[in-house]
Amino acid sequence: MSWLPTLVKACYFLAALLFILGLKRMSSPRTARGGIVWAGVGMLLAVLATFALPDMQHRGLILAAVLIGVAAAWWSGRRVAMTAMPQMVALYNGMGGGAAAGIGAVELVAHVRHALPGVPDTSPLRPEAWALDVLHQVPAAAPLSAVALGLGVLGALIGAVSFSGSLIAFAKLQGWLDKRFVFPGQRIVNLLVLLLALAFGAMLATGHLTLPAIVAFFVFALLFGLLMTLPIGGADMPVVISLYNAFTGLAVAFEGYVLGNEAMIIAGMVVGAAGTLLTQLMAKAMNRSLGNVLFGSFGAAAGGAAQEISGSQKPIEAADAAVMMAYAERVAIVPGYGMAVAQAQHKVWEFAKLLIERGVKVKFAIHPVAGRMPGHMNVLLAEAGVPYDLIEDMDDINPEFPNTDVVLVIGANDVVNPMAKTDPSSPIYGMPILDVAAAKHVIVVKRGKGTGFAGIENALFYADNTRMLYGDGQAAAGQLVSELKSLDG
Ligand code: NDP
Repeated sequence: MSWLPTLVKACYFLAALLFILGLKRMSSPRTARGGIVWAGVGMLLAVLATFALPDMQHRGLILAAVLIGVAAAWWSGRRVAMTAMPQMVALYNGMGGGAAAGIGAVELVAHVRHALPGVPDTSPLRPEAWALDVLHQVPAAAPLSAVALGLGVLGALIGAVSFSGSLIAFAKLQGWLDKRFVFPGQRIVNLLVLLLALAFGAMLATGHLTLPAIVAFFVFALLFGLLMTLPIGGADMPVVISLYNAFTGLAVAFEGYVLGNEAMIIAGMVVGAAGTLLTQLMAKAMNRSLGNVLFGSFGAAAGGAAQEISGSQKPIEAADAAVMMAYAERVAIVPGYGMAVAQAQHKVWEFAKLLIERGVKVKFAIHPVAGRMPGHMNVLLAEAGVPYDLIEDMDDINPEFPNTDVVLVIGANDVVNPMAKTDPSSPIYGMPILDVAAAKHVIVVKRGKGTGFAGIENALFYADNTRMLYGDGQAAAGQLVSELKSLDG
């Protein structure tokens, strides 16, 4: 069956095409759903084609692993709440990085396999004997070219960093780990660990392959990912997740080169490029250079005394809030993470439609990092049926706030915090915000005095022109709807 490898390559080519076209479709909310399906079909094709490779071994074991992975992903994908999506992305991304590092590890071990000590004959099998037994299962490989060896080591390094870093990001977003973990001399320790990982990597890449060097290389690479992510907190997490996403893509592409697998090279490059662009966009949205994100004190306060907030939070009843908006000329609605938690998007859109029917000009203002993942608010509003032409990005709507009569902030906090501009000691200092305080009136819907992701006070809630409508997002939006209806009835 000499035509089989050609058929596999043709399938890989088709899969790569589907990845690229799928990604293209994901760039617009209208076609995004189809884009996901296209990319998914591409992935299925690539996996099926791989099974047809003539030199494929351990098909049964691989199939079992694939089935376990599919079951876990299917179960978690259906169960996950929209608000827990970022940690899920971090986890899946970590798996990709880990898989790339795993391929690198197998390739490297294949080269030292002949030099491995024999498996000691102990019964029951002791852990080290078991580990050696597993290593002996790795098939011996033909020597890699210098380029492939170098790329393989680089891919393994990046993949391992992305794996352990993504797991820490997952644990933090899930609330299992303290948001920020800092200790004196952290940067020096991080640098040392990175240098050690690089040194062992250079040893391996230049052909000095020994089992202890391989183990040391992976230990330091994994440790670096862990240490690099531990101090990150506050508002920088989205940038970091997206950076690891880019890392994973690169790692997969490099390992794809080592394996001679075109589908992996193209898919990895697409993910790497998309992740890099997203990282840049996110960093820009948070007013941080990538260098600052990587080597700065992540989301750390710059020090100095925190800005004092004067005044008090002034409550408002739903009936009064509804009247204010009903008789306004222009209303802007700013959704945030709380709207996602409350699943209030449908009620909010119902309310907005009633306002529009009354002749009020309504717009939705979206901050690039509102919610807990890029595009979180766009997805929710699209789900509720809000037309795209009513949705404005931060840069477009900010100049319009001074001419806006009422801004309805629903479940947003950090993204409308004016202290990002006025308080240099704030962890979000420098992050561009939606300038809602410039509007004539602001109504904020939230349950109480809870802080947002960055865990800090918000001067907006104490401003003279701000009124607080306390309550769960969905319940409050529902009240606004019925109050507005009662105005007409
Ligand atoms: P925030 O996390 O700053 O604030 C959310 C607010 O919603 C809270 O203050 C909370 O107050 C309120 N809230 C919670 N539950 C409800 C509810 N059921 N009904 C009504 N209100 C509720 O959200 P933002 O969207 O303003 O900011 C996003 C933050 O998340 C930024 O700091 C960003 O950097 C970060 N981040 C963003 C990611 C992204 O990619 N978009 C990823 C990871 C982090 P109360 O408890 O009083 O109700």
